[in-house]
Amino acid sequence: MTIATPPAWSVFKQIFTEHWDGFKRVYPRYDQRYYDGLVDKMLGCGNPDTMGYIEYRCLQCGKGTHRVAMSCKSSLCLRCAKVYVDTWVSQVSQMLHEGVIYRHIVLTVPAILRKTFYQQAQAVLSPFMRCGVRCLDEVYSRVSGRALKGGYIMVIQTHGRNGQYNPHLHIIATSGGWDPQAKQWVHLDYVPYGLLRKQWQWSLLTMLRQTVQTQEMQRLVDVCYTRYREGFVTNIQKGDVPAWYQSLARYLAKYVVSPPISLRRIDRYDGHRVTYHYRSHKSERVERETVEVYTFIGRMVQHTFAKGFQRIRYYGVQATKTFAKIKAMIHDALAKVKGIIKGAIQIIAPLTYRQRYQQSTGRDPLHCPHCHSEMGLWRIWHPVYGVIHNELEAIRRGKYASQAPRAAPAGPGRTVWPAAGGISLSLPGLR
Ligand SMILES: [Zn+2]
Ligand SMILES: [Zn+2]
Repeated sequence: MTIATPPAWSVFKQIFTEHWDGFKRVYPRYDQRYYDGLVDKMLGCGNPDTMGYIEYRCLQCGKGTHRVAMSCKSSLCLRCAKVYVDTWVSQVSQMLHEGVIYRHIVLTVPAILRKTFYQQAQAVLSPFMRCGVRCLDEVYSRVSGRALKGGYIMVIQTHGRNGQYNPHLHIIATSGGWDPQAKQWVHLDYVPYGLLRKQWQWSLLTMLRQTVQTQEMQRLVDVCYTRYREGFVTNIQKGDVPAWYQSLARYLAKYVVSPPISLRRIDRYDGHRVTYHYRSHKSERVERETVEVYTFIGRMVQHTFAKGFQRIRYYGVQATKTFAKIKAMIHDALAKVKGIIKGAIQIIAPLTYRQRYQQSTGRDPLHCPHCHSEMGLWRIWHPVYGVIHNELEAIRRGKYASQAPRAAPAGPGRTVWPAAGGISLSLPGLR
């Protein structure tokens, strides 16, 4: 048993099985062990014999079994994308502070710079995130007339709706900042749009000029200043309705962590061309696109980040320690201008495998169909480490010998054996 698998999953795997080698010959940039690894992992995803598995067994009647293949966590894997999104939502929601007013800001890169950006991705992506921070701090400081430090949760995304390369930053920003000199929180009711656009243009171009020191870059920077007199495109979510925050992390997830082209959007594959659909920002309609299979593969792999690259980063007062220190002062300041905003932010706990399974199938995967008791962890097998946990071995070695009334069931549906939920595992792919 595995996570429910949509039919497009086998099509997606087929595309990579048939064309990955050919694709690498045409685009040698991707002829690397790293990318081969992502593809291999993705192709093995869901297969318990290559990925490893966890086996549950009914420890009452011995008949019920349930096997879960470990997920591959490859950034290319559309099958794991759902788990990734759920985890992301919970991670971000836990970094939001109750009662603080946040805004969602988007900073984009104009079309003319995207190619250079893509070619220099390794060098440019981290400075890109930092220059978003400098830009907002600068705007906050200029609006308030004091040197302010905001709090930012920053997420980088490299694709637009149709999967093309379109790097941009999604930022959850505090609506105001900390004045370290006066030790005060300064609330800003709004961010002037024109100022933000120009400041972003200046911050981004300065960063690019310093990071990519070529004549071509210098030329592009000059073109950008003359062509975009109003600055670069930025977006601010309007208003700060507290109720809206409840779903802030979920709302963002839709835009930020969705894969470039998700499985359910793949409509057709004839061996050479792939047809998929997406909802266009511009036309607000569902658009259909048919591309050569190499273009399709390209759109998937160009969005994978280098190993270890952190897509979500916390900056300024949002960095955990700082926030804890000044939280009370932020609350006092906001209470004066806004009244107290209570319970506005919903903290979302990460879903366990069991919960996810139950959500998508309506069945408890650990319920023994034969005797209706709860199944327990039986065995964990990993392709490299072999058997990591073996319940039978543990029983033989007398693991439970000292636990007194083992045979006295506490009631229907309960087990005195350790339930899976009680054992903390930190293997890759397990949650
Ligand atoms: Zn996977
Ligand atoms: Zn049973």
